Formats: sequence, structure tokens, C-alpha cells
Amino acid sequence: MKDVIIIGAGTAGLTAAIYALRAGKSVLVLEQSSYGGQIINTPHVENYPGIERISGYEFASGLFRQAEKLGMEYRNEKVTDIREEENREAAGGKSGKIVETTERNYRAKAVILATGAKNRPLGIEKEAEFIGRGISYCATCDGMFFRGKKVAVVGGGNTALEDAAFLSNYCEKVYLVHRREGFRGEDKLVNELREKENVEFLLNKTVQAIEGEMALQAVLLLDKNSGKESRLEISGLFVAIGQIPENEVFAGLVELDEGGYIVAGEDCRTNVDGIFAAGDCRKKTVRQLTTAAADGAVAALAAAQL
Ligand code: NAP
Repeated sequence: MKDVIIIGAGTAGLTAAIYALRAGKSVLVLEQSSYGGQIINTPHVENYPGIERISGYEFASGLFRQAEKLGMEYRNEKVTDIREEENREAAGGKSGKIVETTERNYRAKAVILATGAKNRPLGIEKEAEFIGRGISYCATCDGMFFRGKKVAVVGGGNTALEDAAFLSNYCEKVYLVHRREGFRGEDKLVNELREKENVEFLLNKTVQAIEGEMALQAVLLLDKNSGKESRLEISGLFVAIGQIPENEVFAGLVELDEGGYIVAGEDCRTNVDGIFAAGDCRKKTVRQLTTAAADGAVAALAAAQL
């Protein structure tokens, strides 16, 4: 029996581990891929209070090391189900949760869901087919393959802006394609991009189609104001249009909203006793590194009370 099982080793999950461990609890963190979560793909974090500038990878590695030093147990396993333990209360013991993974079952007094979110696809024809042949969802991972080439980034949030800035250091030309006039991301990043000679904003435009045989050659853009289509020749298309949650496995367990996010307030409590939700997988308005870390702390301290 673990005191706390945390599902997901991104910023929220690892912060929760640090707080639960410091509260004297035994902690198991289960992660289906590699630790770090989304921030690992961010080249530079410059808005985490107290840290002027750090790479996303360094930030995540620091969190992981910190939790490991405190005694975190960490396993690379995919969670397939969570359920209430049966009959223990009747037998005089407090009932816990059973967390089932592809490998084995675990028991815990409390569970923190910190599964984050995955990249949202554009949803156009041939998109999946061209992944690795010109389409990417991670500029930091794949940007180098496009050194000296023309690429486009789609999106208007911080990820798209940061990706465009990163790619402008290596690529001949970076087009930033956004469906509106205004950006969702920070003005500071927008202004920095405007200063770059090899970055061009293509606003009020959406990507309609992908062209190419073996590799991406061009995309068709639709101008929302004029209704005109244009062809943009590029070798790489970086899709940065936000995230969608990966909470399907918990659908029968905790309440989800219409977008698939776990319904839990700022106290991170779900509608099920002993199950908490922290970070980007939770229904919330601001999804930032700071809010993921804050959720991790709040959820862990509540879980530590059980
Ligand atoms: P986001 O802020 O949700 O922005 C997504 C962007 O994609 C929006 O501009 C949206 O357009 C556009 N979009 C959504 N669906 C689209 C579609 N189907 N076709 C075309 N465009 C579409 O996502 P994000 O940039 O990944 O950021 C997620 C969160 O992480 C944000 O809170 C962000 O601030 C944070 N973040 C922080 C940092 C950092 O602090 N260093 C770095 C990266 C991300 P509209 O604006 O028209 O809706």
C-alpha cells in the first residue's frame, strides 16, 4: 500500500511527488512515456518566478532529480484502470484505490491524476501520414532537420511563438500562420518575432491541405477574410495549436467536462474521495508551468491528509 500514487511525471506530477514526500508519505509515480511532460519541448522557460532562464529539459530534469533524492519510486507503466478497493472497510481496514497498469496492480490511499495533455492535431487529410516527413509537433525535437529550409508554424499561443523564434535561428524562412489577427501568446514574444528578418506573419489564415509525395512540399492556405486560397512552399510544418487532454481511461471514474478535462476546483479534489487532479488535465483557465506546479503542491498536501 502506497500513501500516494501519482499518474504522470510532468511538472504537476513531480511537484506533487516532492510535496507528498516532504510530508513523509510513500510515493509511487507512474508514467507511460518519459518524465518531464510538455515543458521538455520548450527551448527556454523565462516566466517561472525566481528562474530567469532555463531550458525545459533542464527544468524537468531538476524536478525529477529533486523527487528522486527525496525517495520517489518511479515506474514506466501505463495505467489502464483505477477502482475502489472492495470489502476492506467491512473488514475494519480503510479502503484504498487499486491502480491497474499494463504490468501489475498497486494499492494506494490516495491517487493524483496529473496526466497533462497531448498535442492537438490540425485534423486535415494526410496529416498523420506526413508526420516525420515534414509535419512535426515539436520544434525543439525536429527543428534541426530543417536547417536552411523554409518552414511554417501554425498557431497563435506561446508554443507557436516560441517555436517560430527557435526555428528562425536555423531556418532560411519561418512563416507564422495564425487563424486570427490577434495572438493568444505574450506580446513580448510577438514583438521579438516582428523584429526578425526571416519571420513572416500570415494572419487570418488556416491550413486547408497538405501537398507532397514522399515529403511535404507545400500547404494550401485559406484566407478567412477574402476567401482566397494560396499555396505556400515549405519543407516543414510545425503544428502548435494547443493541447487536448488524455483522460479517456478515467471517464468512468471521475467527472470530465465536455472537453475531456477532469472536473476539479482549485483544491484539486475530484468528485471521488481520495482522487485528485493536478495540472493541465484539470478543468481550469490558466495552464502554465506555475499553475501546474501550484496544483501539484495543493493536491499532494490534500492527499497527505488521508
Ligand atoms: P494555446 O495557448 O491554447 O494556443 C493555441 C493556439 O492555437 C491559439 O492561438 C489558437 O487560436 C490556435 N488554434 C487552436 N485550434 C486551432 C485549429 N484547429 N486551427 C488553427 N489554429 C488553432 O496553446 P499553447 O500555445 O500550446 O499553450 C498552452 C499553454 O501553455 C498556454 O497556457 C501557454 O501560455 C502555455 N505555454 C507557456 C510557455 C512558457 O511559459 N514558456 C510555453 C509554451 C506554452 P485562437 O487564439 O484563435 O484560439
